[in-house]
Amino acid sequence: MGAKRKKTSGRLRGSATTKNNQPKTVGFVSLGCAKNTVDSERMLAKIVEAGYLLNYDIEDADVIVINTCGFIAPAKAEAIEIIKEASEYKAEGRVKKIVAAGCLSERMKEQLLEEVPEIDAVVGLGQRDNVAEIITALLASDENRLYLSDGDWGKTVQDDSDRLLINPPHWAYLRISEGCDRRCAFCTIPMIKGRFRSKPLEQTVSEAKQLVSAGAIELSIIAQDSNYYGKDLPMENGLVKLLDELEKIDKLKWIRLMYLYPAGVDDLLIEKIAGSEKIVNYIDMPIQHINDTILKNMGRSDTRRKTTELIEKLRKAMGDVVLRTTLIVGFPGETDKQFAELVDFVKWARFEALGCFAYWPEDGTKAAEMSGQIAQEIKEKRSEEIMLTQQKIAFDINNARIGSKLRCLAEEKVRPEQVLGRFYGQAPHIDSICLIENCKAAPGEFVDCEVSGTQGYDLVCKKI
Ligand code: SF4
Repeated sequence: MGAKRKKTSGRLRGSATTKNNQPKTVGFVSLGCAKNTVDSERMLAKIVEAGYLLNYDIEDADVIVINTCGFIAPAKAEAIEIIKEASEYKAEGRVKKIVAAGCLSERMKEQLLEEVPEIDAVVGLGQRDNVAEIITALLASDENRLYLSDGDWGKTVQDDSDRLLINPPHWAYLRISEGCDRRCAFCTIPMIKGRFRSKPLEQTVSEAKQLVSAGAIELSIIAQDSNYYGKDLPMENGLVKLLDELEKIDKLKWIRLMYLYPAGVDDLLIEKIAGSEKIVNYIDMPIQHINDTILKNMGRSDTRRKTTELIEKLRKAMGDVVLRTTLIVGFPGETDKQFAELVDFVKWARFEALGCFAYWPEDGTKAAEMSGQIAQEIKEKRSEEIMLTQQKIAFDINNARIGSKLRCLAEEKVRPEQVLGRFYGQAPHIDSICLIENCKAAPGEFVDCEVSGTQGYDLVCKKI
């Protein structure tokens, strides 16, 4: 959930030129989640391959491409705001064409053209790999206001190889599937992305190998529902079989599992993670709520008892496991008592990391039609209470780490002798970080550290 704005930069010369032989430029804005980042990286590669220059200053680019997120209304609002900003540059004559791609384009289709008439092309998810041709066609004519879709997209799996990585090359996302077969009452994803389709095992492993050859030593496995992997192929214990193959990749050191659906975290998977040198003891498992009635109304197959037992099992199997979860508060009908049950559960579970969202009614979802919709200010108050409860837990966990030794992956040098890094319990972009003193390690190097203090959610470490 949520949207992140990333501008990309690059200076790769190609053959898409103006009449006076100057290369044409593309400004690219990537919004949304990790899955969208993968699509952005693939589009960027196609754009550069076609000979366009990437321009960090989007206001001076010939074409602006915005890869949108359409998951919830605030993400849509952010995308529209950026498209409107691009429209101003177009009105000033600086930018010639605006392309909207990604989830919001897929969700709204032609309606997006009506809502923002300055857009020249709305590109559906299945047209992702044609982005460069679309740009070239737009620039070659005055024709605009195109909607381009691929009706079969919801039945196929895309090729995510040959991407131009936005993030530092020592870590990358490995997308293992498209779509989702669950039907959570609040979620628009199945409407946008279609049914769950696993990327074939050989293709997934080959993409992983390519990322590792390009310098990745950490891969974050992503999907809408990662532990559903293989069920549609059909392949029994698909995720475990995929992990078996990934572990064999020599230079790959950390494998991180994101987006695990709690009911699908079975004993075999726990055993696999616990027994692996490479799969880090980090579980991202969105539980959404804990009250049984709310879970049932959400259309989730978990119950309080099952989730409680699972957390106990994970902590027992891996004493050092780091658990991240996501919650939704203010779901229709959520009473004060049910919310209090969730707060108590957060105190009991002591997740190392937690994200909380105020429920948002989305058109076309079952939950939006439910009675008992809760006022926005109550939802926000509840979200704040959860985050304050979690803050205390996260700070306590951090304090308890002082004096302990951690192996960190250097991310970025910020001062001559200070480096930002992450230990296995910190996923890129969404979690806190380690500030490593006395350290000159280059990005992608492992550094042994001792935790010397804390700074909010972050850890302060010293290189040993
Ligand atoms: S598991 Fe539920 S919340 Fe997650 S993508 Fe699927 S339908 Fe949406």
